Amino acid sequence: MEETIFDKIIKGDIPADVVYEDDNVLAFKDINPQAPVHVLVIPKKKVTSFNDLKNLSPEETGLFLNGVSTVAVSLGLAADGYRIVLNCGSNGQQTVEYLHAHILGERQMKWPPG
Ligand code: AMP
Repeated sequence: MEETIFDKIIKGDIPADVVYEDDNVLAFKDINPQAPVHVLVIPKKKVTSFNDLKNLSPEETGLFLNGVSTVAVSLGLAADGYRIVLNCGSNGQQTVEYLHAHILGERQMKWPPG
């Protein structure tokens, strides 16, 4: 598996603005924010994309999802709401080949998405 920018962040080889970390997930601010709050959450066990979620056990998948929820709530987004985005593949405009959830908040989102 090719090393991505997120592998380097996990290893501490490049800096990131980390907002949350536990045994299972790392969350850091997106370098190119698309909302007043824009945080990425990645599982510490590497998965390339949503297509490969089967490479995580049900427990690991649950811990990843729980991490996303924990981060969103800890960022103070629960009351007004927020959006979770999981881009997958080229049509989904995934640019980093390491599974990540975007948490976008503190602005009104639109539907349908672009
Ligand atoms: P995606 O397009 O879903 O693959 O999202 C990748 C995201 O990673 C984009 O929103 C980028 O702005 C973000 N990104 C790329 N490099 C970094 C970095 N070094 N630190 C934080 N976010 C990054």
